[in-house]
Amino acid sequence: DIFKYVLKEAEPDGGSVLIELTEEILERRHRENAVLKIIKDAILNQGFEMYYQPIYSVQKGRYASAEALIRLKETEIGYVGPDEFIPLAEQNGMILDIGNYVFREVCRFMAENKLWEQGIEYIEVNLSVMQCMQETLHAKLLQIMDEYQIPYNRINLEITETAAVVSNDTLKRNMDKLIDKGITFALDDFGTGYSNMAYIFDYSFDMIKLDKSMVWSAMENEKAQTVLKHTIKMMKDMNLHIVAEGVETLEQAEILTKMGCDYFQGFYYSKPVNEQTFIKVIGEK
Ligand code: C2E
Ligand code: CA
Ligand code: CA
Repeated sequence: DIFKYVLKEAEPDGGSVLIELTEEILERRHRENAVLKIIKDAILNQGFEMYYQPIYSVQKGRYASAEALIRLKETEIGYVGPDEFIPLAEQNGMILDIGNYVFREVCRFMAENKLWEQGIEYIEVNLSVMQCMQETLHAKLLQIMDEYQIPYNRINLEITETAAVVSNDTLKRNMDKLIDKGITFALDDFGTGYSNMAYIFDYSFDMIKLDKSMVWSAMENEKAQTVLKHTIKMMKDMNLHIVAEGVETLEQAEILTKMGCDYFQGFYYSKPVNEQTFIKVIGEK
């Protein structure tokens, strides 16, 4: 059946191949189109909101920061998480609008509640790969911070190794200009991908975020635990602060404390919560 085949273009050699449109591929396309429509709609009609996941400081014995995580409000197709919609938005450029929304929302929330006077020293904000490729990124971020009068040291920007690979020079220029003002950077998702140590000394990171997959495998596997222990030691020797993600039990927190982690982020402490709950939660700890 000819209609069951479609040309898959942009093969590395410039050619194209016929791939069979299986039930599964069709379903996935259908879902992607539905999600893309929801994203477009959300950009136009305030369909997003920001959640905040508290981050626990071992040294201070309390929440000292938080990561801003985007959420779609109610959709017709139920919960659609950022793991699903961020990569789609990244493919078609909508991520730039989303990135601006996220940063503005975070600054508004921080300013309205003077979070830094409530023990939340900074908020961590995720930057997408495409944002890092924009030569004007630094100017845009500084402009929004100025608008809300956010002290520059109250923002920490999280970037992934992929951003460093894809947008090397532009990212470095952006980082230099922002670091110059006092903004700090974290390398996110360490332990996934290549986790090339070169990125750690090639870029001026203040913080490394150990991905939950790396944390979890160290809890299950002795060799992985040895790797993690020495990785942390090495990073500490380079004066980097270490955040462990995906901490779900007290036992994990204790093991990671012994290894020298500085901060914990995970369901054991708190799930990401909305603004109102976040304010309540930081008041309690
Ligand atoms: P990420 O940056 O690695 O964010 C951490 C993710 O781990 C969050 O998922 C958080 O809910 C989850 N998490 C934290 N602690 C635990 C735990 O103890 N157990 C488990 N099972 N999960 C935990 P979330 O909010 O679904 O976000 C998924 C990804 O979507 C993020 O991964 C990030 O890559 C992306 N993302 C989220 N918000 C934004 C945003 O505002 N901008 C951009 N560019 N990307 C975002
Ligand atoms: Ca992150
Ligand atoms: Ca992460």
